[in-house]
Amino acid sequence: MIPDERSKAGLCLDRSGFILHRSVPVTSVMGCARKTRDRVLNGPRLSAAGIDSVINRRSKINMKDQNCIFCKIANGEIPSRTLYEDERYRVILDLGPATKGHALVLPKEHFANIYEIPAEWAAGAMEIGQKMAILMKERLHTDGANLVQNNGETAGQTVHHFHLHIIPRYKNDGQRILWKPGKATDEELDAIVSAMK
Ligand code: 5GP
Ligand code: ZN
Repeated sequence: MIPDERSKAGLCLDRSGFILHRSVPVTSVMGCARKTRDRVLNGPRLSAAGIDSVINRRSKINMKDQNCIFCKIANGEIPSRTLYEDERYRVILDLGPATKGHALVLPKEHFANIYEIPAEWAAGAMEIGQKMAILMKERLHTDGANLVQNNGETAGQTVHHFHLHIIPRYKNDGQRILWKPGKATDEELDAIVSAMK
């Protein structure tokens, strides 16, 4: 029997805090007028150099955090139900699963979130997420999967060590991992495109 990872680390989580907020107005984006869409698609884009400067501004810290429970779990100091492990990552079962097989991809180095993790590590986590989702389809007979990654308390992150949720989905599983579609005017959408250039 594996000891409860949270109690071992003295961590108490409020289960009702498991909320995956989303506020992307997808339907509004899809409904945007052709004229606006063309202007957006054909307008100047963020250059490769611009993206690099954003990436270079991020912290490149690469270490373990003594007070981080996911550092301890990822590095085997606290036992976990591990589905996969390699030099850089460990995939564990979530203690408060949204559905049967809900797993977390944990890097073995401490990066708090998407703003801190180097692109190569983020890409590696997604690659493993894809493999796990495919394997779950075969072994757990899943009907789909949500790959979810929360950053910051406002976005529902409760453990501040980068992790990728793999949430297997089953027909009629009763789960909801959705956002409420909003509305946006052409001007608002254009302003976002301008701000992002
Ligand atoms: P977040 O809300 O930060 O995106 O997700 C944190 C996730 O970690 C939650 O789904 C929660 O159930 C899970 N979790 C928190 N503490 C532990 C733990 O000690 N062990 C395991 N296996 N999962 C945990
Ligand atoms: Zn950590």
